[in-house]
Amino acid sequence: MNQSIFVTQPHLPPLEEFIPFLEEIWANKILTNGGPFHQQLEQALCDYLGVEHISLFTNGTIALVTALQALGITGEVITTPYSFVATAHSLLWNGIRPVFVDVDPVTLNLDPARIEAAITSETTAIMPVHCYGHRCDVDGIRKIADKHGLKVIYDAAHAFGVKDDRGSVLNHGDLSVLSFHATKVFNTFEGGAIVCPDLEEKRRIDQLKNFGFVDELTVVSPGINGKMSEINAAFGLLQLKHIDEALSRRAEVDAAYREQLATVKGIRCLTGGGESVPNHAYFPILVQPEFPLSRDALYARLKEHGIYGRRYFYPLISDFPMYRGVLSARPENLPVATDAARKILCLPIYPALTLQQVCNIVRVISEAGA
Ligand SMILES: *Cc1c(COP(=O)(O)O)cnc(C)c1O
Repeated sequence: MNQSIFVTQPHLPPLEEFIPFLEEIWANKILTNGGPFHQQLEQALCDYLGVEHISLFTNGTIALVTALQALGITGEVITTPYSFVATAHSLLWNGIRPVFVDVDPVTLNLDPARIEAAITSETTAIMPVHCYGHRCDVDGIRKIADKHGLKVIYDAAHAFGVKDDRGSVLNHGDLSVLSFHATKVFNTFEGGAIVCPDLEEKRRIDQLKNFGFVDELTVVSPGINGKMSEINAAFGLLQLKHIDEALSRRAEVDAAYREQLATVKGIRCLTGGGESVPNHAYFPILVQPEFPLSRDALYARLKEHGIYGRRYFYPLISDFPMYRGVLSARPENLPVATDAARKILCLPIYPALTLQQVCNIVRVISEAGA
């Protein structure tokens, strides 16, 4: 038939618009180490997102690892099994024990009602994920964190540009971490960032991503190399010029799916967590028992038509070999996440996806369900 459709396709600006940025880099010969594009992108993102401070990183995973270091997190951290594996990996890289807590059945985000039972004398922080860009129960999480003196670090890799009635969702918690990977809503090829409310904290984070240097001769911490290069930062500045157009195309695709899938029995479209400005980063559906095909059979059927959905997030993080040994990783402890992982399928969504393609995808699904 026609060309394959993948779950996402990176949004790229016109190539000729990138050339002047490259010419500037070639002229000034500053390739990295917090150069002019790096500084400009930090400021531009603060303005665009509506946050106080941003420290750019080489990717989201190193940003997560560094965020935990910056806050001195140790012992145990409560987190969700329903995420990309980097969330929990960032804990292991810091010698921290992840403690998995089940998710809410509506948002599939960490369920605050289950957090308290998992807190021990070793617990120092909570690491929730705004999964699919859907906002966590930020107030519920903050109440528990305050009561028990815990830090909150949001893995906000999916939540670029998402707002609630109080502004950017990235302002909740002690720190939030973004990813600018090629598959994300806003990409710099590879990239990431830590959002923080305090300038002193940002300075510490800037040192941690540059080997712990504070000046030419002074190293204050065993920092890592997490810096974003000038080429990625320049590309980010260009991407930012086109982001609103990309987000509005995503909104159109999302609305078309919702309208057309509403009449397909046994398919449930996930809804948000009270965002006033969503980003439509993903289009997750749950294949319910009423649907004639299993999730995996529907996944395979779509593939036969050249449509490549993704089973995000299956398997659960807690099912991977380096995690499944701990008590909290047992499926009995995580019934909601376990059930969602069996039903979930993310359908293709990206700015270049046409409404005709959406129609075709929905037709394959509804014919499979007939
Ligand atoms: C993409 C992603 C990350 C990792 O970000 P990278 O930039 O790829 O390192 C972390 N957490 C979640 C939830 C993600 O989706």
